Amino acid sequence: MRASRTLTATISVVTLAFLALLGTGTHTVRRGETLTGIAAAHGTTAAALARENDITDPNRILVGRTLTIPGASAPAAPAGTTYRVRRGDTLGSIAARVGSTIAALVERNGLANPNLIRVGQVLSLPGAAAPAPTTAPVGGAQHHVVRAGDTISGVAARYGISQQQLIDANGLTGGRIYVGQRLSLLPPVAAPAAPAGSRTHQVTAGETLARIAQRYGTTINAIQTANGIRDPNLVVIGRTLTIPATSAGSTLRCPVDGALRFMNDWGFPRSGGRFHEGNDLFAARGTPTVAVVGGTALQKVGVIGGQQVKLLGDDGTSYYYTHLDRFGAAGRVSAGTVIGYVGTSGNAAGTAPHLHFELHPGDGEAVNPFPSISPVC
Ligand SMILES: [Zn+2]
Repeated sequence: MRASRTLTATISVVTLAFLALLGTGTHTVRRGETLTGIAAAHGTTAAALARENDITDPNRILVGRTLTIPGASAPAAPAGTTYRVRRGDTLGSIAARVGSTIAALVERNGLANPNLIRVGQVLSLPGAAAPAPTTAPVGGAQHHVVRAGDTISGVAARYGISQQQLIDANGLTGGRIYVGQRLSLLPPVAAPAAPAGSRTHQVTAGETLARIAQRYGTTINAIQTANGIRDPNLVVIGRTLTIPATSAGSTLRCPVDGALRFMNDWGFPRSGGRFHEGNDLFAARGTPTVAVVGGTALQKVGVIGGQQVKLLGDDGTSYYYTHLDRFGAAGRVSAGTVIGYVGTSGNAAGTAPHLHFELHPGDGEAVNPFPSISPVC
């Protein structure tokens, strides 16, 4: 097994060196290619390609035509967090230079085909200390519904955002996206898979401790404690605050206490034009569901969610548990307390028993819980 993996990696490096040399300023259109696909492969946009080559109808490009590739328009980023592929680079040489591995670079950048990197392509580097820069999507779009042939790099290039932003905003793992899946293009409200350890934040004019806490998915109280702040209304502009580590991604309990199976089904299409805003955790009917962190459990009954619990976590994040057959403890609960039992209430009637689980940093918009729960379930 090990020998064949090494061989595969060696072949990849050789191929990559070859491709990086070839990745110059023109591209000859092959059968089946689209302008969007070509743009993505060269780290530019379909619009820029159309402009550069005087193409009036982007849906009509002739096989065999040689296109001029404009200067790469992939988003620039501060040194240290990204790397722009240069002539002669291989993924192996880049990995060695930045102290990473080929596998980590492939994973981090959602490279569907690890043999395809191009001169000018901007790679996000694993383990970078600073968060990846975020960009507003081109044209003000907020979502993209995945079509056949789409790739992470292609979607990112099309909207002029970094691949890392797309990956972070949707908790994508393993470089996979699915046809029909709705991807958020906006920067995530809080890093759902925040690394363990604290960060810092410099206070700017107009900011409140509440706003800062929400941004990092933590609480006012936690920031006060970490910084010895007595009066939360008195925070000096310019002061650098320590932001304590959030529990997301590191210390959550698995919400289902028993055998379960689940996949990264965030953003999958649902009836009525809705999209899946959580993960479905399948387990035997009656399996206990537990508080993932300490907090306050609020019970509610609704048409869609059936018997459901909203857990207001002490970490500042809200967690939704729906389709429960029975409720457990309510009110003040500790991590691990049973707050309900897996079932099929609400619109899950007739389906396999499962817990629909959502994660809302700062009690705001839902983010994909998969990166947080997959390490602990
Ligand atoms: Zn669900």
